[in-house]
Amino acid sequence: METIRLGKTEMMVSKLGFGGIPIQRVSEDDAVAVVRRCVELGITFIDTANAYTTSEERIGKAISGRRDGLFLATKTTSRIRDEVKSHLRLSLKRLGVDFIDLYQLHSVSDHETLNTILDPNGPRAVVTDAKKAGLVKHIGVTSHSMDIAKELVKSDCFETIMFPFNLITCEAAEELLPLAREHDVGFIAMKPLEGGMLDNITLAFKYLFQFPDVVSIVGVEKVSEIEEIVQMVDRPQMMTAGEQEEMERLRRKLGKTFCRRCDYCQPCVEEIPISVVMHFPDLVKRLPAETIVSGWIAGVMEKAANCTECGDCEERCPYGLPIREMLERYVNWYYEEKKKYEG
Ligand code: SF4
Ligand code: SF4
Repeated sequence: METIRLGKTEMMVSKLGFGGIPIQRVSEDDAVAVVRRCVELGITFIDTANAYTTSEERIGKAISGRRDGLFLATKTTSRIRDEVKSHLRLSLKRLGVDFIDLYQLHSVSDHETLNTILDPNGPRAVVTDAKKAGLVKHIGVTSHSMDIAKELVKSDCFETIMFPFNLITCEAAEELLPLAREHDVGFIAMKPLEGGMLDNITLAFKYLFQFPDVVSIVGVEKVSEIEEIVQMVDRPQMMTAGEQEEMERLRRKLGKTFCRRCDYCQPCVEEIPISVVMHFPDLVKRLPAETIVSGWIAGVMEKAANCTECGDCEERCPYGLPIREMLERYVNWYYEEKKKYEG
C-alpha cells in the first residue's frame, strides 16, 4: 500500500485509511476480523471516534499486540474541557494504547463552535496539554462546512483537517485543499463513497487518488469490501474516457438534488449550518439514534428549526437546491426520530 506524508505531522500513512463507523453495526468478531484484514492489507491509518459506540473498543481488540506502525486517529465532539479530558482518557482505555497518534476536535461546523475551538483556553488546551504529556502525538480537526474548514486551516492551530471529499462533493479541490497545502495541513477525505451513495468504487477511488497528498478514509464492515477496494487501489489509477463520462453523468444526475457542502448559500441570517442539515439523511443512516437526537446533531437540527424562510440562501445556491423545503423536511424528520427515541 502506498504511503503519503500527512502534512506537518510529518507522518507517513497509508493513502487509504479505515473509517470506524460501520463496525458498530456488525458482531464483535466480524468487526475485529475486518480491522485485522485492513492491517494485513497494509492500511496503517485507522480512524474512529468517542461517539462511535463500540468502535474504539473493537479496534483496540483487533490491534492488540500489533499497534506498532499504525497511525490511530480518534475524536471528540465535546466542547467542554473536563469532558474532552474524560473522552480522551476513555479513548486511550478503549483502544488499549498509551498514546493516540491523532486526536481530532470533531464536527466544527458553525461559527460559535469555531470560536470555542480556537480559544486557546478552551477545549483545545486539553488536547495541547495531552500532547505535551505524550498522550497525543498530533492535533487535528474535522468539519462539514466549507467556510469553517477554511478558517480552521488558516488558523494554523491544527495539523490535519478532515472534510467530506469525493467525486460528487468535490468542492474541496477548488480552494480548501490548496489552502491546506499552503499551510501544510494534512488533508483527510471523509465520505469517499458519499455515505454509500456512490456504488462505483473504482470510479470513486480513481477520482480521489488523483490527489497524491490526500488520505481517504473508507468505512467498511466486511472483509470482502476492503479486499475489493484494496485490489482497486493497487491497480493503475488513470481514469478512462468512459469513466470520465460516467463521472460527469453522475454529477449531472445528483447535481439538482444533492448538497455539495460548498457553503455558497451562506451566510444564513439565523446562522444555520445549512450544508450540515442537508446531509441529515446520511447521518440517520449511519449513526445510532442516540447520537442523532443528542449532542451536536441535535444542536444543528434545533437551530435549523429557526429558519425564517427568507430564501436568501436559495438565491445563492449554484445548484438550485430547494433549501427551505429540504430543511423543513429534515427538521420534521429529526423531531420524529427524537419522539421515537424518547418513546
Ligand atoms: S431561508 Fe432559512 S436557511 Fe435560508 S438563509 Fe433564510 S433563514 Fe437561513
Ligand atoms: S445548499 Fe447549495 S450552496 Fe449550500 S452548501 Fe449545499 S450545494 Fe452548496
